[in-house]
Amino acid sequence: MYLKELEILGFKSFAKKANLKFNFPISAIVGPNGSGKSNIAEAFRFVLGEQSFKSMRGKRGEDLIFSGTPTLPRQSRASVKLVFDNSRKILPVDFEDVTLERIVHRDGINQYIINGSEVRLKDLIELLASANIGSSGHHIISQGEADRILSSSPKERKTMLEDALGLKIFQYKKVESERKLIKTEENIKQVQSLRREIAPHIKFLKKQVEKIEEGEKLKGTLLTFYKEYLKTETEYLKSKKAELGKNIDGPQKRLREIATEIAAAEKLTQNQTHHDLTIKIKDLENQISSITKEKEDLLKEDGRIEGQLSSLTRLIEKQKAEDKSVSLTKSELNEIKNKIEDLDKESAGASDVAILREVVKKIINFVKEFLISKIAGHGPVDEMQAEVEKCRERKEEINSALDSIKNRESFCREEIKNLRQKLDQDKSSSLAAEKKIVTLMSEKNDIQQEISKHSIAIDTLNRDETAFKQELTEAVVLVGREVLNYESAPISVESPEISREEQLEKRKKLERLKIRVEESAGGVVSEDVLREYKDASERDEFLAREIEDLEKSSISLKSLIEELGQKIETKFHEGVAKINNEFQKFFELMFGGGTAGIKVIKTEIRRRKETDLSFDEGDLESAPEEEEEPEEGIDIKVNLPRKKINGLMMLSGGERALTSIALLFAISQVNPPPFIILDETDAALDEANSRKYGDMIENLSKSSQLILITHNRETMSRAGVLYGVTMIGGASQLLSVAFDEGTQWAK
Ligand code: ATP
Repeated sequence: MYLKELEILGFKSFAKKANLKFNFPISAIVGPNGSGKSNIAEAFRFVLGEQSFKSMRGKRGEDLIFSGTPTLPRQSRASVKLVFDNSRKILPVDFEDVTLERIVHRDGINQYIINGSEVRLKDLIELLASANIGSSGHHIISQGEADRILSSSPKERKTMLEDALGLKIFQYKKVESERKLIKTEENIKQVQSLRREIAPHIKFLKKQVEKIEEGEKLKGTLLTFYKEYLKTETEYLKSKKAELGKNIDGPQKRLREIATEIAAAEKLTQNQTHHDLTIKIKDLENQISSITKEKEDLLKEDGRIEGQLSSLTRLIEKQKAEDKSVSLTKSELNEIKNKIEDLDKESAGASDVAILREVVKKIINFVKEFLISKIAGHGPVDEMQAEVEKCRERKEEINSALDSIKNRESFCREEIKNLRQKLDQDKSSSLAAEKKIVTLMSEKNDIQQEISKHSIAIDTLNRDETAFKQELTEAVVLVGREVLNYESAPISVESPEISREEQLEKRKKLERLKIRVEESAGGVVSEDVLREYKDASERDEFLAREIEDLEKSSISLKSLIEELGQKIETKFHEGVAKINNEFQKFFELMFGGGTAGIKVIKTEIRRRKETDLSFDEGDLESAPEEEEEPEEGIDIKVNLPRKKINGLMMLSGGERALTSIALLFAISQVNPPPFIILDETDAALDEANSRKYGDMIENLSKSSQLILITHNRETMSRAGVLYGVTMIGGASQLLSVAFDEGTQWAK
């Protein structure tokens, strides 16, 4: 027994709570026309999640709620509860009893509740499908629909059989899987498109990051290089500083000594003796000049006196010879004549008396001298003798003066000679001092040059030290504080001085490296870019994983769909074969012979290429072309005993009902549903057939619980309980009648 209880409140004609307990395999619901019996069957459909209002004889939710009578108020909601005995776990939930409840409100809102918890319709449908229960289908046959299976299309029949064979859950799962697959494929596309969208950004960021990494690498190289450079440089500066501090003392001391030595040597060169000697020599040389002049004058006078003496001697001789006459010689006359002509010329140009007087004076003197000479020559010999004497005296004076002069001259010359010797001696010592000064000056010059070089070197060192400090600051900015540990660089600086050139080369290389590092930074805010790249690539990886997962689930969905398809196919064909067998049996039972069977047929139909599941309104507009596709359906063939009929259309109403019942029972026999509700399926049966029907019902009730709405007394007699429904004041009311009582009541 699966069904325990049905509680109806406010549903259709049930204004008040009605409670039906299903404690027997067969329960019958009886009552007059219009009392509300079919509303109970619909209450089942309703609580099992039926969405078609038509199948509940309504147009909207509101139609299902008690609409009120003049004496009874209308209800605001309709609710139906169905209690299952789940001790055999027919429903896959871990409860002994499972209560399903559906409530519909006047505003059309529906609530679905399983064991007090509100759920989605989907959850309810899934739960029921797993127990081969549906809101409609073979196990709830509405009034007048007994032969529906005969009048349906082959395709509809196939659907009914699939439901009856419990394939609905698989179909549902298959459809669900196909829907999920479509969704998954869509998601794959979406995620792929997302990946494509972010790909250029990631590519750009990657380039940036590579640039940054390259920069970091370069920074690392620069750091190592910097450390080596700075260590070498600092060693060089240290050694240079020590060297320059030491060197300056010696040369400066020497410079001071040189100054003293030069001063001493200069004193030697500035000696007065030399000067004095030179002056003395000059003085003596001047004396010799004046002595020479004096001597020349004396010699001239001596000559002249000599001449005068000889002249006087001749005159005396001549006087003595020519004692009486005085005559003029031709030359004397010419002399006079020439003198007169000269004086005449001189007087002729004279305009001044003084000049004339001078000319006259000259004439007088000439005449006087001439006459004196004439007369003297002709003077007395004594006078001339006296004159000779005078001359001789004068000559002796001259001779003695000349002797004295000669003595003086030789003295001077001797003196000069001595002085020159002394001067020569002086000169040689001064020369030595000068030479020394020159040497000292050269040494001084050298030392000064050395000192100047030293000072230049100090300046250079200072500049190098400043540059070193600047370099260090710059290095910290470029490669961080780690560079300050440059002393730890694993290089040994053997001779800073020797490697200086190498160091300068390194310096150039360092500058080039610095430029590259600065360029590689390129204004990029590396932290932000790295973070952004990390985020973006993490997102990309996440999306890639997402695609991978989606693809995996797409593959497993495809295989699940395939599996389910095969399962449905196999179970369907197996089921159809079994039903076919059972159909034959039931048919024979019903008609006392004849043959009946069902088979799967294929019909050609035009349909869209894609399955309807994938379409939405938008898709329909661009739906692919139609094509013919074979479709499966169920064909029914019957042969009545002793009758020759062609097709189902030729059956009478009763025959149709019997055939339908035979098929329905066959179906139910193959895959018994937990319960079957039959609403006046037996309406068209005559007495004999009603008995057969009753027998089959009893047989069927062994595997499925039966709820039968009937006016048929035979059917009623087979029920364990009868529920009587009456309509009182526009509302249905329920009364249950015990089996025996019921049978009695039925008869
Ligand atoms: P029969 O034996 O003739 O098939 P029945 O017992 O099956 O009759 P139902 O069809 O179940 O009767 O009940 C129909 C009755 O229910 C009608 O009288 C109808 O007025 C009533 N009914 C249907 N919907 C509502 C509603 N929303 N509110 C009140 N009464 C309703």
